[in-house]
Amino acid sequence: MGYTDLHTHTTFCDGRATPEEMVLSAIDKGITTLGLLAHSYVDFDVRYAIDPTRVEEFRSEVKRLKEKYKDKIEILLGIEADAYATEIYGGCDYIIGSVHYFKTPDGYRNVDMSREVLEKVIDEVFGGDPYLMAEEYYRTVERVGELCGANIVGHFDLVMKFNEDGTLFDKANERYRAAWQRAADRLLGEGLIFEINTGAIARGRRTEPYPDREILDYIKARGARLILSSDAHFKEKLAYDFDKYEYLLN
Ligand SMILES: [Zn+2]
Ligand SMILES: [Zn+2]
Repeated sequence: MGYTDLHTHTTFCDGRATPEEMVLSAIDKGITTLGLLAHSYVDFDVRYAIDPTRVEEFRSEVKRLKEKYKDKIEILLGIEADAYATEIYGGCDYIIGSVHYFKTPDGYRNVDMSREVLEKVIDEVFGGDPYLMAEEYYRTVERVGELCGANIVGHFDLVMKFNEDGTLFDKANERYRAAWQRAADRLLGEGLIFEINTGAIARGRRTEPYPDREILDYIKARGARLILSSDAHFKEKLAYDFDKYEYLLN
């Protein structure tokens, strides 16, 4: 059976391939269901987002491709809605809800731009306490169903992006564990799907997919519905390492 990859980005946001290039590459890789989506528009950080004036064009392009390649692949229209999205375009087959920012009294700060940026956020916003940072992050993650109408939670523990070596904080710390468990419990209760996201591996940022294995074990033990996703921004990265990690679905 072919793979499903529902988390991909194209030139309509910060991806590097057009929707049609993604579709052709997906067919080539034997993917049977492909979700094309864009980052929702956030007015405070337009670098990654879809330009609101291009939403209609994106929608009709996905529709055109859906029809053109219907005998070869199933194509879905999605959106990666940020918790602080200014605008969430409608008409999607599904919504991935993600947290990429901290909302602070002085504006929005990035979660996942770089380790240096996150360190600065911990120092300047959270008084040097990385657990306070993580608690704030997960308090927003737990609300992606409510805030974005999400069916899928995106890269649940993105806050671990630069902490695989444990030098930013200790993932076994009780405060950290309590923070993610609370968020996981709420999202599980609301029936959201969790993704096993290989995007950071493809970008050389991590060696393992999100979420961390302890979190994965926890949500699986509680009946989580799971999908593999690549978060691909390049056509070559579609279904990245799915063969290696598909066993995690079971
Ligand atoms: Zn994301
Ligand atoms: Zn994404």
